[in-house]
Amino acid sequence: MTVFTDLGIAAIRDGVRDGTFSAREVAEAFVGAVEKGRSLNAFVIETPDHALAAADAADAARAAGELKPLSGVPLGIKDLFATEGVQTTAGSRILEGFTPTYESTVSANLFRAGAGMLGKLNMDEFAMGSSNETSGYGPVISPWRRSDGGNAPLAPGGSSGGSAAAVSARLAPGVTGTDTGGSIRQPAAFVGISGIKPTYGRCSRWGIVAFASSLDQAGPMARDVRDCAIMLEAMAGFDAKDSTSLDLPVPPWEANLTGDVRGKRIGIPKEYRIEGVPAEIGKVWDDGIAWLKDAGAEIVDVSLPHTKYALPTYYIIAPAEASSNLARYDGVRYGRRVAPDQGGLNDMYEATRAAGFGAEVKRRIMIGTYVLSAGFYDAYFNQAQKVRTLIARDFERVWAECDLLLTPTAPSAAFALGDKTADPIAMYLNDVFAVPASLAGLPAMSVPAGLDGQGLPLGLQIIGKALDEQTVLDAGLAIEQRAGFTDRPEAWW
Ligand code: GLN
Repeated sequence: MTVFTDLGIAAIRDGVRDGTFSAREVAEAFVGAVEKGRSLNAFVIETPDHALAAADAADAARAAGELKPLSGVPLGIKDLFATEGVQTTAGSRILEGFTPTYESTVSANLFRAGAGMLGKLNMDEFAMGSSNETSGYGPVISPWRRSDGGNAPLAPGGSSGGSAAAVSARLAPGVTGTDTGGSIRQPAAFVGISGIKPTYGRCSRWGIVAFASSLDQAGPMARDVRDCAIMLEAMAGFDAKDSTSLDLPVPPWEANLTGDVRGKRIGIPKEYRIEGVPAEIGKVWDDGIAWLKDAGAEIVDVSLPHTKYALPTYYIIAPAEASSNLARYDGVRYGRRVAPDQGGLNDMYEATRAAGFGAEVKRRIMIGTYVLSAGFYDAYFNQAQKVRTLIARDFERVWAECDLLLTPTAPSAAFALGDKTADPIAMYLNDVFAVPASLAGLPAMSVPAGLDGQGLPLGLQIIGKALDEQTVLDAGLAIEQRAGFTDRPEAWW
């Protein structure tokens, strides 16, 4: 008997097409899994009717011989994507009750390709965080547990923590994520799944709640590389409604996926060997190097000299842009309003924002407005913009020596909930390997590569040249084929 929730995107698509099972059966199985998995808090809201209606449409399309690329595939949508008629919170209480009258371009693209929506996925508030603990709707619990029986619940990573937990716990075969400074890659690594942030501009940002507009990119998270390629193909594409959208055709990433990296030069940047990183991370990195060598690639040592400035640069630019983007939540235009009995308009703004935003969001708004203030603009924001250019130039230069870069995705495996909440800097440090590619707008992917001593997943990051998602995906597949990572969390939820 087929356990439908064990199927990935490609298997569901092919099975529906071949008539091995119906889309309805698959959707019902995932709707049931979502209900059973409620203790993980991965979904802010469930939309079973949407998933079932899309499944029925897929079954009808098959009968009519009109199947689409994602017919019969139920997906989870991160709650940062505006969904028409379905509450969209961005993980924030300030947007509670906000029901968009429009659909984000990316979710519209997925639905047009035949996919259905199982629900909206929990996330860090406005995508600010690395553990999903800043969500106004409570943290997501990772389905993984440490093998030593330490029962403290683990973080699924963030900000796409609900997305990561849902795929890993088999509540959805694929989900959307967004990545501003690692929010697809780090959670994918924490739960042993794959995820790709494409080149900045590949996916339209229209209808995605903005965090840091010059960095935000949507991308897929799924069980394997092929499923990511399938989803990305449906998500990407030019959109006149986003002025930073790239007016380029979407390549047939899945059809071209071979896993062939023969003759490719893989750069190993020495600046990513930083102190304080557990030896197991270095070990899995070495494994990745050996696998790509085995696949016929050439390994070259390279240098990206400005890497150490990436984290401070990111934590100036991202809050600066966020402080501007979040000015719109004023109690008038969206969601929640807190109007004090006495007082005027300003009191209403203040009361709404005080009650609606969480501590991390307020911290970022304060940092952002500070670095943009007249007296400090040159010292912080302007300086950070210049360093961002230097970081991008490091990458441009390194492409003379290699075609791809291989690094660990994160400096640790999943940590326990509560471990880093008292220390924002410790939390930010988790993004150290992810933010350089974000600042440079480059495609970057995380694939599962092994387990640490506690039986927790570790991921490897592949960074590619702008627009070269294909080589990134092929190297991801080459690693996937050699890592033989089939581990999954035991279902305790
Ligand atoms: N963890 C990073 C932050 O808190 C990145 C978040 C993201 O990519 N959305 O800003």
